[in-house]
Amino acid sequence: ATFGNLSDRLSETFKNLRKKGTLSASDVDGTVREIRRALIDADVAFDVVKEFTGRVRERALGDEVNKALNPAQQVVKIVNDELVGILGGQQRRLEFAKTPPTVIMLAGLQGAGKTTLAGKLAKWLTKDGHTPLLVAADLQRPNAVTQLGVVAEQAGATLFAPEPGNGVGDPVRVAKDSIKFARDKQYDTVIIDTAGRLGVDAELMKQAANIRKAVDPDEVLFVIDAMIGQDAVATAKAFQEGVDFTGVVLSKLDGDARGGAALSVASVTGRPIIFASTGETLDEFEPFHPDRMASRILDLGDILTLIEQAQEAFDEEEARKVAEKFATDTFTLDDFLKQMQQLRNMGSIKKMMGMLPGMGQMRDQLDNFDEREIVRTEAIIQSMTKAERTNPKLLNGSRRLRIARGSGMTVTDVNQLVQRFEQAAKMMKTVAKGGVPQVPGMGPV
Ligand code: GDP
Repeated sequence: ATFGNLSDRLSETFKNLRKKGTLSASDVDGTVREIRRALIDADVAFDVVKEFTGRVRERALGDEVNKALNPAQQVVKIVNDELVGILGGQQRRLEFAKTPPTVIMLAGLQGAGKTTLAGKLAKWLTKDGHTPLLVAADLQRPNAVTQLGVVAEQAGATLFAPEPGNGVGDPVRVAKDSIKFARDKQYDTVIIDTAGRLGVDAELMKQAANIRKAVDPDEVLFVIDAMIGQDAVATAKAFQEGVDFTGVVLSKLDGDARGGAALSVASVTGRPIIFASTGETLDEFEPFHPDRMASRILDLGDILTLIEQAQEAFDEEEARKVAEKFATDTFTLDDFLKQMQQLRNMGSIKKMMGMLPGMGQMRDQLDNFDEREIVRTEAIIQSMTKAERTNPKLLNGSRRLRIARGSGMTVTDVNQLVQRFEQAAKMMKTVAKGGVPQVPGMGPV
């Protein structure tokens, strides 16, 4: 994943830190230096890195770490806090107009993912009871209108485009007409797809600025491809000057690039990241939560997104029951297996597993993750007695050996499964009680 390498490096840094009971100033400096290198290697903008590490260092040398029972964990918490900060702090939701239609304009370079985003937004809004209209104001690229039409159809939304054969067409005019059309036909959101170029250029900026002036959008979303590396910051600044925007959408976060530059965008422009795009299909898209992204990067897991997606895939009654089991410590291996089987409904198992805490080191294995994993889990759990499934504490060495034999797995496989179960149950329990999950393997604070 995009932040895989950064994530691994930071995990490694923290692992070394955890070996120490108390932290000296030179331990802190060493850690800060490693974090700085990891961020720079991940393409995070230099100014952002400097500010970030400065703040981490100052806090890490202060009382909050000195007095902490577990100094290393406290440092991780500080890094987490500061990372949430550079990602924009609080979650910023999409803003709707008091009187519909809400007008959302998309801007960004060609290939950034604007057209795809238009479809994703439309689908997401429709699910929420909105009635979006997709507007083709990209009259530059030959196929743009057709492409938006395809996306609109996939999203089940209406396309607004200039009549074919109506000459070249004026994007400002199209945008303006679309709003009148939306008002007349009662569409409550208008999503305007604008033209992009391969590089920043003055004419493109002017056209986008003109559209903005003409329709006065409630939101202007700047779409940035997380894979473009260091150019992200310069591009963002150019768009901020040329068009200005109210929010950022990070796209292609599923890619393998280093992605750090995209992490700098909120900090450098002072504009919040509102959405993240994580794939080519219209469902691979989610509201952006700075805190969740930070804990994903620090490999603290993204339990909250996991729970939300689980709630979408399961029915609510089921989700409520599971949450209750977590909270009351009555979640069993049977439940765990049932959950895993239900994960099948959830599209990409790999993505879901990636959100589990502590899975960072397993990322390579994750890439090979497939249905067979579930089959193996099933085999192991089904080789357990009813009592063992209900009360995993019974699983001593000889029982584990018996289960391994019975399921055709190794004792290590059994151990890993039990460990994963215990970790998940523990984290979920904390979350269910409204707490903040602990860093796995770091012991209590
Ligand atoms: P536009 O020129 O800004 O409208 O960009 P498009 O929406 O046409 O996207 C350009 C390419 O990137 C297309 O092939 C999309 O399928 C792809 N794309 C868009 N968003 C994502 C994403 O989040 N992940 C991945 N992997 N590909 C994406």
